[in-house]
This record gives sequence, C-alpha cells and structure tokens, in this order.
Amino acid sequence: MTIAQHKVVTIHYKVSDSDSDEVIDSSENGEPMTYLHGARNIIPGLEQALEGKSIGDELEVTVEPADAYGEHSDDRVQQVPIEAFQEMEKIEPGMAVTAQTDQGQINLVVTEVNETTVTVDANHPLAGKKLKFEVKIEAVRDAREEEMAHGHVHGPGGHDH
Ligand code: ZN
Repeated sequence: MTIAQHKVVTIHYKVSDSDSDEVIDSSENGEPMTYLHGARNIIPGLEQALEGKSIGDELEVTVEPADAYGEHSDDRVQQVPIEAFQEMEKIEPGMAVTAQTDQGQINLVVTEVNETTVTVDANHPLAGKKLKFEVKIEAVRDAREEEMAHGHVHGPGGHDH
C-alpha cells in the first residue's frame, strides 16, 4: 500500500536544522508519529515527499521554510512597554508568553528586554528555518470514514474521543 490521500501513515522521524545540523525533534526513543495524509496534519513539504512511498521506505528530505513553518516575518516582532508585563515576577529573553488579541490567544517568545521595552516575537519558533527530515515509514492503512470527516487520526497515536 502506498501513501496517498486518506491513508493513515505511521512514521519514525528525526528533524534537524539543515544549516546547523542541530536535532530539533526525534521519535527515536519514543512512539512513532501517526498522521492522516492529505489533511495538512504535517507540514506541506514533508507531506509532498511522502506521497507515493510505501512501508519500509526510508527517505531524507530538506524542506524550505516556505513549505515548513513559513518565513520569519519582521512584522510579527513587536516592542511592548515593559509595564505590560508588570504582573510577571521576571521577564527575560527566551521566555514564552501568551497574549490575547482580536484573533484569539497567540504564543510569543521574548527576544530582548531593556529598561522600558520588551521585544516579543510571534513567529513560529521554527519560522525561517530550512529543515532536514529523516523518515522511516512504519505503517500505512486506509483511514476510517470518521477519521476523514474529522481530518485527523483516531486511536493509538491520534485523537482519543
Ligand atoms: Zn476526531
């Protein structure tokens, strides 16, 4: 069985920063990942590379930022008066914070703190990064109707509801 739309696919994977070779995430010592193919459960560049592959196949694919977590956008970096954080015990670079906006809650990372302002970045932490995936395909099966309707996998490795 080959990977196509409406197949449920289980993979072991390792993802690293293509430029620095730093490992970002890996399923090596844990459970493999299961996803519904063709439902945008995973980044587009990886989904495309897996199309047509079969159980046992191993592949290495490098995905450009645009097909991964997007380009880094300076518009999503903002300076906020430090008073906005006065309820927090401390505020320092690297901290993750959440903010309420008209579009709902967003996740931000603090990148700089000085006496009057805090710089926060709303880009995805992996935005702008070229990613290298090493993948081994462990299983492929047909999706059940309710999985197709929900757009995600149920059972082991998936949603439990
Ligand atoms: Zn569901």
